[in-house]
Amino acid sequence: MAEIINGKEIAAQVRAGIKEETERLIQAGLQPGLAVVIVGEDSASQVYVRNKIKACAEVGFYSENYALPEQTTEKELLELIARLNQDPKIHGILVQLPLPSHLDENKVILAIDPKKDVDAFHTENVGKIMLGNYEFLPCTPAGVMKLLEYSGIEVAGKDCVVVGRSNIVGKPQAMLLMQANGTVQICHSRTRDLAKKTAAADILVVAIGKAKFITGDMIKEGAVVIDVGMDRDENGKLCGDVDFDSCFEKASYITPVPGGVGPMTITMLLQNTLIAAKSKMKDK
Ligand code: NAP
Repeated sequence: MAEIINGKEIAAQVRAGIKEETERLIQAGLQPGLAVVIVGEDSASQVYVRNKIKACAEVGFYSENYALPEQTTEKELLELIARLNQDPKIHGILVQLPLPSHLDENKVILAIDPKKDVDAFHTENVGKIMLGNYEFLPCTPAGVMKLLEYSGIEVAGKDCVVVGRSNIVGKPQAMLLMQANGTVQICHSRTRDLAKKTAAADILVVAIGKAKFITGDMIKEGAVVIDVGMDRDENGKLCGDVDFDSCFEKASYITPVPGGVGPMTITMLLQNTLIAAKSKMKDK
């Protein structure tokens, strides 16, 4: 039976550290500031944005929330970003994705000053991650690495399998595991004989967006199973990409959904904003 990795508890520990550092920074005359921009009415995105603003307040950050109407033009959005890039109160800018289809996401991300790109989606930051020489890490994969670290799970030398190759999770996750000296295989929808690959993993990270897809017979006895998925099961209940019950019996460690990777994502956003503010302090 597996040990459950409690993401809520680990997130609370990391956030307590961020709060302490923030207090020290404020005393030294600098309050970390995050601007969150949302365009349109997507209800899931609105929940994420509310949670981000609330998390900022809890650790003592300054925050600004821009809820723009669906019909906002690209020019208007780019002008707002340009203004936030120049604003000394703002150290991190987050544009909630997805954007409405008339807005070019790539163009918008590239407009953010890379030093304020706390999602780490700008090509400059993506490139730095590739080189292993970065300020910011993308929040979800960085959160997974923190969960492993806080659970005392050594990555070096382990066979790691990442299922999913998205730009925001799978690809950077594989890179971070490799940088931690894991031996990494990346699987995706065109992978042949997926179960054979997942069953060879000491550490398995799953980010595919398919409810309960990875079952106990697809994992190795004693594997560490990290479930990034946020899906709905047949009853509409929140669940992950991993079938928790069957994998729980076989794994050594497993993350639940909810309460595993999810709470770490916002925590790493706070961490990135703190890093951005601290680097401004150094520039002074
Ligand atoms: P995505 O952009 O849709 O990418 C899904 C990936 O899974 C793709 O690379 C796809 O392969 C692969 N895939 C799909 N079906 C597969 C299959 N049957 N076998 C093997 N691979 C398969 O998704 P994402 O943005 O990375 O998100 C993945 C999941 O994580 C979602 O449930 C999302 O809600 C969740 N998520 C959670 C957090 C969090 O904070 N907890 C953050 C981000 C995302 P191809 O490339 O070949 O199409």
